Parts: sequence; C-alpha cells; structure tokens
Amino acid sequence: MSITINSKLPQVGTTIFTVIGELANQHQAINLGQGFPDFSAPKALLDRVDYHIQQGHNQYAPMAGVASLRDAIAIKIKQQYDREISPDSEVTVTPGATEALYCGITATVTPGDEVIVFDPAYDSYEPAIELSGGRAIHLPLLPPEFSIDWQRVKDAINPRTRMIILNSPHNPTGATLSADDLNALAELVRDTDILLLSDEVYEHLVFDGEIHQSLLLHDELAARAFVVFSFGKTYHVTGWKTGYCIAPAALTAELRKVHQYVTFVAVTPIQLALADFMRDCPEHYQQLPGFYQHKRDLFCDQMSGSRFKFQPTAGTFFQLVDYSEISDLDDRSMAEWLTREKGVAAIPVSVFYKEPPNTKYVRFCFAKEDETLIKAAELLCRI
Ligand code: PMP
Ligand code: GLN
Repeated sequence: MSITINSKLPQVGTTIFTVIGELANQHQAINLGQGFPDFSAPKALLDRVDYHIQQGHNQYAPMAGVASLRDAIAIKIKQQYDREISPDSEVTVTPGATEALYCGITATVTPGDEVIVFDPAYDSYEPAIELSGGRAIHLPLLPPEFSIDWQRVKDAINPRTRMIILNSPHNPTGATLSADDLNALAELVRDTDILLLSDEVYEHLVFDGEIHQSLLLHDELAARAFVVFSFGKTYHVTGWKTGYCIAPAALTAELRKVHQYVTFVAVTPIQLALADFMRDCPEHYQQLPGFYQHKRDLFCDQMSGSRFKFQPTAGTFFQLVDYSEISDLDDRSMAEWLTREKGVAAIPVSVFYKEPPNTKYVRFCFAKEDETLIKAAELLCRI
C-alpha cells in the first residue's frame, strides 16, 4: 500500500549542519562547521548535574521551569539589563532556544500573517512561520556590515505584519545591533500590534568593549517581545538543549500554551544544576567576552597570512570569511571542498538566504581549543 503524504514543509531537507558534520567525520576534517565548543563545561557545573541525578531529581519539572532556575534568571536579567521581571509569569525555561523560538512563533502567528526576517537568517525561523500558515518576508542585511536598512523595514510593514524577528549577535555574520537600531525599530512598531522575537543566544559573545544591545534594555521594545536565550552557548553545553524565553506575562501565557504540548518541560537535573551554578559562579558569564575574544583574535591572527579576506567578527563565535580571491566555486561547493580536500569544515552562508546573492562567504566556528584553531588556520593558510 502506498500512502500519499502532503508535506507541510516540502522545501525542507537535511540541515547544512548535519550535512557538513557528516562530511567532516567522513574525511576527519577539523570541524569548524556547526557551532559547538570542543572544550568542556566548568567541572563544578557538571558535578551539580551528577549530584541532582543522584539526589533523585529525575522526574518532571514544573512546566515553566524549576523555580530556583527561574529565580536565578530573573536575578541575572536585573544585573545584566537592569530589568525587573517576574520569575513566575515572565520566564519560561525551554528545551533549547529552538523550542522557545518555535513556541513564540507558533503561539502568535496565524494564517495570512507576515513575519519579517532578515537574510541571512538562522534556519529555524521560517519552518515555524510556515507551519503557522504565515509568510516570511525576507529583507536583506547589507554587507559588509550586515546592517538593517530601516527604510526597507518601514516599506515592508503593512496591516498583515504580525512579527519582526531579530537576531543579535547575529548568526551567521557576527553582526550586532546598536542602540540606534533599537530606537529605529521602536519608532516603526510604535502604535502597531507588531510583536518582536529577539534571538539573543549569543548575548555574552560581544567583543571590543561593546555592550550587547538586548531588547530588554529598551522599555518599549521589551513590552512587545519574546527574548530568547540559550544556556548551551553560555555554559559550553550545546548538547544540553536548555534555554529560556523572557516575555511580558500576556505573551508568556500564550507561549506556554504551546510549550506545554510541544515538550511540556525541560530536563530537571540540568535545570537544577544550572540554577546552582548561576548562583555560585556568576563570574562565568562575565568572563565570556574576554574568553571568546581571545579565541577570535587568535584565529584571525593565524588567518592573517591566508588568502581569505575578513573583518574580525563583532559578536558570536563565528567568523565569516570571503574566499573570492581563492575560488570561483559557489559557497556550498567551497565548503564541501574545504572539508573534503583541505581538512577544515565550514558552513556556506547561502543556505541562510531565501534568495542567495552571489557572494563568496563561508563561516568558521572558533569555539575551539587554541591548538585546534592554530591547526585549522595552518591548513587554511596553505590554500
Ligand atoms: N538561535 C541561533 C541564532 C543559534 O545560533 C542557535 C544555535 N544552535 C539557536 C538559536 C538554538 O539554540 P539551542 O541549541 O539552545 O536550541
Ligand atoms: N546554531 C548552530 C550553528 O549555527 C547549529 C545548531 C543546529 O545544528 N541546528 O552552527
């Protein structure tokens, strides 16, 4: 018997992270593709997971997240962004930022709605918009800075516009929003019902003394925003898939209606361990900009002798490089060639576009041990 399946996501294939990851394994390439650290989380954090498992904290957590973790998050938001939030009604712990993004979109976007996204865009936004019956309106970020053209945003806004999705620091380009950007955005959404979804998973990876311009710093924007974070990036534990969403109570209530049926909860002992570690070691995230700036500078320094062109990234643990002086290959072929023939895996940037421009960029992840970065740069400098 054959059954007909009407795919709800006919355009979607296997993500580039899986494709390049498998190719890197196959060719034993140094994997600077998918964004994950090759170093360990702090031992004290790992020990707390073990502790809570042994203590028997192995059953369902409360739907919104364990209370001690939501309290720790509220304290951190106050310290970091000077915003008072209610741990009960404005914080939801989710299995990864990905689930928070999905729930924020599907809880509020209805058929016929338009959602503005900026290309290149992280790959998880559009499928959630489509599954909600909405339509993504793709606006380009302007290279080489990959900044937002606010006039184009203004021109794109119409009565069907339901949401604008922002991502700063930005994956894959490393660009960051400025305070002026936030003010420009506020001006455009004032007196509308447009919601904001702000993906801020790289909040602590901002370099050169700049501060992260969170939407939580801006009263008007925070009042209409889901702001999404990930413990995976902050504590070097991407595999723990634990994140959280801060949103005003009314938006949080809608997000939780979806969250409680998508996953219901995030993993209990991990939440308890993160709460302990946030309380005992707040200096961890305060040291992150310096920690990653060292890695960025090391990688860029080592790559300065190569034929790749680049500007040191402003944020994230990704470095975009232009290979136009090296090859005419399209970026997907280039990433595969680098992985297969040159021993260093990279992510092509065109996959983050609806309509890829003919640019020649690939993305390298520098969340790696110094020796890994030195070895990778050595291989790249030989090209
Ligand atoms: N947003 C962006 C921009 C990301 O780079 C990632 C990284 N994977 C995520 C969301 C998802 O985070 P998580 O692994 O916590 O789901
Ligand atoms: N955010 C990670 C990256 O951009 C990948 C996460 C995933 O594999 N979906 O590399």
